[in-house]
Formats: sequence, structure tokens, C-alpha cells
Amino acid sequence: MQLLKDRIRKDGKVKEGNVLKVDSFLNHQMDTALFREMGKEFKRRFEGEEINKILTIEASGIGIACVVAEEFHVPVVFAKKTQTKNIAGDVYKSRVESFTHGRVYDIIVSKEFLGEGDKVLLIDDFLANGKALEGLAELVEESGATLVGAGIAIEKGFQVGGDIIRSKGIHLESLAIVESMDDKTGEITFRD
Ligand code: 5GP
Repeated sequence: MQLLKDRIRKDGKVKEGNVLKVDSFLNHQMDTALFREMGKEFKRRFEGEEINKILTIEASGIGIACVVAEEFHVPVVFAKKTQTKNIAGDVYKSRVESFTHGRVYDIIVSKEFLGEGDKVLLIDDFLANGKALEGLAELVEESGATLVGAGIAIEKGFQVGGDIIRSKGIHLESLAIVESMDDKTGEITFRD
């Protein structure tokens, strides 16, 4: 998606450790006009698919997930991150290793909001090593719902997540795939 690539090139900041900061339009301050265009693009890319729920992970996926949900006229569920040890009963749970924070946490979704018969599109802001998407996909599987696909705003194509998710046969659509980025020069290149 050219609009997003242009914006990343203009306002993205490359940090040490393969981290791309997009705080001025996506991760802290949010450009809702850009989000709306991203929502339409996801709608186009998953056109014809039966989707009745969007699933994302707090916090930075929620904004994007909401505009996608508006396009599909379906609700958004966000998985909550938790450190609580003994969560029982009424939730689905999986583990996620955080790329940006370097620790492991549980994510949970109430059984009330996900289950058999649901047809789920996963949405997140970034794809790096694929742990967040894998965790969300596990929740979907555990619930008995059907995973339709995954939509990502920015995939870092030089990390393994994209290959892992695609090799599982999951329909993955990334609006911008970063091929390389250099924290010394700030240069960012894209796939395609
Ligand atoms: P993964 O689980 O694929 O390794 O990492 C994806 C998650 O880590 C996303 O939910 C995102 O919040 C965060 N993340 C990974 N890489 C980056 C990055 O370069 N910049 C930002 N802002 N977040 C990232």
C-alpha cells in the first residue's frame, strides 16, 4: 500500500535492535485518515471471505482493528495481556513472547466473545517474529472458531514471522513489507 509505505519513509524512525518507530502516526499519535484507508485496503484484500469477528491484541492493534471492523460491519475482540498466574475457567489463554519488551506474557480472551461458528480475521500493527499472531491463532483454535486470515500493517520481511505464518497456510496480508532498514542511515526499503 503506497500511502503507508510513503508515510513510513517520511515519518518512521529506525532504532537499534530492528525496531521501527512509527509513533507519530500509528503507535502513539494515530492518523485516523490513514487508518481509514488501511481499513479499506484490508477490506479489498479479504473481499469475498466470510468474516464475522476481528481479533487483535492490546494495545497497539486496537485502533487499526476498529477501522477494519467498521469496513466488515463486525465487532472487534482484543486479547488482553495479563501476568496473573491462575486464570481459570472462562477464558482462552495462550503465551506470547514480546519482541519489543523481551518478556513472556499470557494473553486471554473471554469464552463469551469467541467460539465455534466464529470466522475470525486477525489484525495487528507489526509482524516481526510472528509470536503475537501465533498466540492469537492458538486462541482461535482453542475456541473452535475458524481462522480466515491475518492482516498486518507493517511486516518486517527480514524477520522470520512472515515465513512462519505463511508456511502454516494462513492467508496473510501485509500492507507494507519492509525489506531492510538501517539504524545508522535511517534508510528503509520495501518489498515490491
Ligand atoms: P512478533 O510477535 O511478530 O515478534 O512482534 C509483533 C508485535 O511486537 C507487534 O504486536 C508489535 O506491537 C511489536 N513489534 C514488533 N516489531 C516492532 C517494531 O519494529 N516496531 C514497533 N513499534 N512494534 C513492533
